[in-house]
Amino acid sequence: MIETFGLTRKYGKLTAVRNVDLHVPEKTIYGFIGPNGAGKTTTLRMLGTLLRPTDGRILVDGLDPADDPAGVRRRIGFLSDTFGLYDDLLVWEYLEYFCGAHNVEPTTEKIDTILHLVQLYHKRDEYVGRLSRGMRQRLGIARAIVYEPRVLLLDEPASGLDPIARIALRDLLKTLRDRGTTILVSSHILTELSDFCDTVGVMELGRLIAQGSIKEILEQTRTQMRLVLEVLEPKAKAVEALADVPQVVDVAVVKEHIEMGFTGKREDLPAVHKKLVEAGVPVVAFYPKPENLEDLFLRLSTGATN
Ligand code: ATP
Repeated sequence: MIETFGLTRKYGKLTAVRNVDLHVPEKTIYGFIGPNGAGKTTTLRMLGTLLRPTDGRILVDGLDPADDPAGVRRRIGFLSDTFGLYDDLLVWEYLEYFCGAHNVEPTTEKIDTILHLVQLYHKRDEYVGRLSRGMRQRLGIARAIVYEPRVLLLDEPASGLDPIARIALRDLLKTLRDRGTTILVSSHILTELSDFCDTVGVMELGRLIAQGSIKEILEQTRTQMRLVLEVLEPKAKAVEALADVPQVVDVAVVKEHIEMGFTGKREDLPAVHKKLVEAGVPVVAFYPKPENLEDLFLRLSTGATN
């Protein structure tokens, strides 16, 4: 649904986005991740026709913003990281106003349907200025979807939200995806996105350093399995027994358990377990460490920022 080819944007001497090839499949949630200054906002603004690329090409639903900016805008709902709301309007008036701005008939049915969707119907007659931060984010999304765009670009929508508001946002994005919207959502907080994105793109210093499903990228970049061993005290006995296993590397006590790298295969694990038990180690649990988006990012990233 969104593709870029060699997308590049310079600000004077600084190349904020460098040769980026994004591939965002239709009807999916794409998590766009990277630290501050990585070039996420600049990329989103180019996709949203708010900024011209210095070089490269963009296709949104087959349209190039350079040739047909209005066509792209009709297909895209954009919520920037710093959007303003009109605090003195009632919630329903606010949506009515934005329907008008986008040539959408502001019927009561239309407004109420959107308010139900973003779970703000109970605040229909409240002043916008009296909404909580999470509610304001959802109203921002409501505003961006009044004309039912096929693509939604959201810049850091979860920033500053408490866990409950974040769950409400996540559920809303999933609902929109299930209704057929393609969503590109940026964040520098990895855990915000890890449990609901279908695909992720990782940016660093203007480059897209990885792209794909979290599982795919983890598999591509993994050089060794990480294992977790939970034992009763003393841990020293376990560390000693592990030192004898040639495939075990980097053994370390991490909080209440022991972590290690393992260069062997899964099939070799029962033999390691047996060795520990034979050495008299009181094993409580022994398992491959589940990896998440944060592990992936730490492995890929050099930690550099502008
Ligand atoms: P954040 O998470 O902090 O929003 P980001 O990944 O969205 O960061 P961008 O805002 O795209 O990153 O910025 C990328 C780089 O481009 C940064 O070094 C920033 O200082 C620079 N930059 C952004 N906008 C401009 C501008 N209008 N003029 C000059 N430099 C800019």
